[in-house]
Amino acid sequence: IVIVVEDEAKIRRFVRMSLESEGCQVYEADSVKRGLIETATRKPDMVVLDLGLPDGDGVGLIRDLRTWSDIPVIVLSARTSEMDKVEALDAGADDYLIKPVSPLVLGAKLRAMQRLVAMRQKLVTLSNDLQEANEKLQRLAEIDELTGLHNRRGLENRLHQEVTAARREQSPLTVILVDVDHFKLYNDLLGHMHGDVCL
Ligand code: CA
Repeated sequence: IVIVVEDEAKIRRFVRMSLESEGCQVYEADSVKRGLIETATRKPDMVVLDLGLPDGDGVGLIRDLRTWSDIPVIVLSARTSEMDKVEALDAGADDYLIKPVSPLVLGAKLRAMQRLVAMRQKLVTLSNDLQEANEKLQRLAEIDELTGLHNRRGLENRLHQEVTAARREQSPLTVILVDVDHFKLYNDLLGHMHGDVCL
């Protein structure tokens, strides 16, 4: 899904047709306000944006967008000055094309953005996996392998949480200590393997 924000109907149609021939689903907007609404509701994969729009500047739209989204934005403008490019890119645009642009270049830029998006998604997945693995490791480090109960480290962490909660809630905290007497006899008689099974 691509949103094309452009006030000139002719250019809008041209961009739309170029992107549709690349297999994109295209929605049009002819103002900053419309562009923001379309972007918020359609959740596009990319925005192609003109700068000179009837109700404001495209750079303002990019700044607004960047406060809540990292959707790729390609600026397509007739403005050729370095200042305009720098301003748009600094505001958060991912690329800056100068009108008129060929459908071939637009298609190539689109594919480049898709690669970026795919890479970012991969990174997010990787970092989620890593976090999950870390949490699992953390849990394992606090568990006694044989019994599945908390080990010393787990107990200390848990006790700390419970004491903090009890203080906060002003509620009593009960700790029960369970001990098995003369377990050495069991081990000596039946062997440590059976001792482990018993535990
Ligand atoms: Ca314009």
